[in-house]
Amino acid sequence: MGYHNVFVGLGSNLNDPEGQIKLACDALRQLANDQTIQVSSLYHSVAVGPPQPDYLNAVAHFATSLDPLALLDALQAIEAAQGRVRSLHWGPRTLDLDILLIDDLQLDHSRLQVPHPFLRQRNFVLVPLLELAPELRLPGSDKVADLVQQIGETGLTRLSSP
Ligand code: ATP
Ligand code: CA
Ligand code: CA
Repeated sequence: MGYHNVFVGLGSNLNDPEGQIKLACDALRQLANDQTIQVSSLYHSVAVGPPQPDYLNAVAHFATSLDPLALLDALQAIEAAQGRVRSLHWGPRTLDLDILLIDDLQLDHSRLQVPHPFLRQRNFVLVPLLELAPELRLPGSDKVADLVQQIGETGLTRLSSP
């Protein structure tokens, strides 16, 4: 069996966001081949959706032998373990783990869309993605660098590396 090259977006705005992101990275390492992941810098971003605290965001990159739905299950288990409660749509959360990209796959499953459907509209995802993979291109489509150029960095601040 082969493995998949994945990018996962991390976000937190409750209960010590920096601690949440660090804990999540430890958990992601358990899913990765050789227990090795690459993580972007942490970014501070102004929240979208209902009024709520600002977010800390990062992107992680790793290889995993989990298939896409098993990866989603594993990410949702990590969110739950870190006290994620789903109430308000786009409301505050201890931890959000979104699958951004899996190889060059384009999936449209009821539980899983890849690339992540809002990837192109979110600088807090595109900027850390670009940091990890300057040459990255979305499947059959734009370079991440070009998307970052277009969207700009409004509301986003890069913090020191994790
Ligand atoms: P958004 O999707 O706009 O970032 P959100 O992260 O707040 O919003 P959630 O409540 O975390 O949304 O997830 C809702 C559902 O999205 C999940 O139950 C999952 O089945 C589905 N989903 C679809 N595609 C993906 C993906 N690429 N990564 C993670 N979840 C996904
Ligand atoms: Ca999300
Ligand atoms: Ca999510």
